[in-house]
Amino acid sequence: MRIRAAPKRAEKRKNGMSECLFCKIIAGQIKGEKVFEDELTFAFKDINPQAPVHFLVSPKRHINTIAEASGEEMEHIFKAAQKLAEQFGTSDSGFRMVINQGHNAGQAVPHLHVHVLGGRPLAWPPG
Ligand code: 5GP
Ligand code: ZN
Repeated sequence: MRIRAAPKRAEKRKNGMSECLFCKIIAGQIKGEKVFEDELTFAFKDINPQAPVHFLVSPKRHINTIAEASGEEMEHIFKAAQKLAEQFGTSDSGFRMVINQGHNAGQAVPHLHVHVLGGRPLAWPPG
């Protein structure tokens, strides 16, 4: 007979959840400056802001790539980002939404997140 807790832990390890920084922030195990939450998404300020406004919007579920996200999750993420950008006063001046996906994009945290940056002119093209 299997003990229930063990496979759960194994499953978490397999998914990379137990080691995931953003899963820990979303679960409240590590402090994060939350700016929004709904049933599918969690948004918090970036610890190392690259602009006066810089927050991250993540699915609550531990997924790493856009390919793994459901249409509903993407909808919630983009709606939350748009609403927060407005709330932080960047609707008129403009803002940028960025997903760093994979090695070439310099993704550092393997839990899908959309950066929302604003509050200053943002150069293009990116580095
Ligand atoms: P990536 O390069 O994966 O797209 O971006 C990861 C982002 O997460 C970076 O902008 C980085 O500053 C941010 N970050 C890394 N560790 C923490 C943390 O512990 N708390 C918060 N709030 N942001 C973090
Ligand atoms: Zn995670």
